[in-house]
Amino acid sequence: MAKSSAKQRKQTENTYSPGIASDDSMLKSFFEDELKDIYWAEKNIVKTLPKMQKAATTEELKEAIGQHITQTEGHVDRLEQVFELMNKKAQAKKCDAMEGLIKEGESIVEETEDGTMTRDVGIISAAQKVEHYEIATYGTLIQLAKTMGMEEAAGILAETLEEEKETDKGLTEIAENNINWEAEQEGEAQEK
Ligand code: FE
Ligand code: FE
Repeated sequence: MAKSSAKQRKQTENTYSPGIASDDSMLKSFFEDELKDIYWAEKNIVKTLPKMQKAATTEELKEAIGQHITQTEGHVDRLEQVFELMNKKAQAKKCDAMEGLIKEGESIVEETEDGTMTRDVGIISAAQKVEHYEIATYGTLIQLAKTMGMEEAAGILAETLEEEKETDKGLTEIAENNINWEAEQEGEAQEK
């Protein structure tokens, strides 16, 4: 039973051959558009993270954000490598979704009090929304790159995906270890 389904799968795979899409195929241009979108996103995250780091209350969160600033600079570089592999100029196209997520993060900072644990809860929540957007985007890009036979690009993008996943996991740990609990002990909100 298992044997025949494996065989079936193999046959289905063989129907398709990766890398036959022409350079101006619709899928390739969709891929390139998505690259421009995440390139804009990463560049803007590099600018926003230092503000979030400054606004954070705990050293633990400041450190985690600091580490991700360095990683994000690397994400920008990797995207430039992928553009290069495609013989395309690295170009950013405004990503409406990321613009919204960044704005949301900034308003969380405005709406929470300086020096509180609730501020850190808010920053972690906003940062994880950003990470999840990135994880979804890189997951799609990697699969599309593989489909189009762009194995090298897929490998480069997979390195970034791994770092986004680790960051997301790290943020969950920081939140659950103590920040959420300490925020729960905090006093009432001041009238704004
Ligand atoms: Fe990133
Ligand atoms: Fe990230």
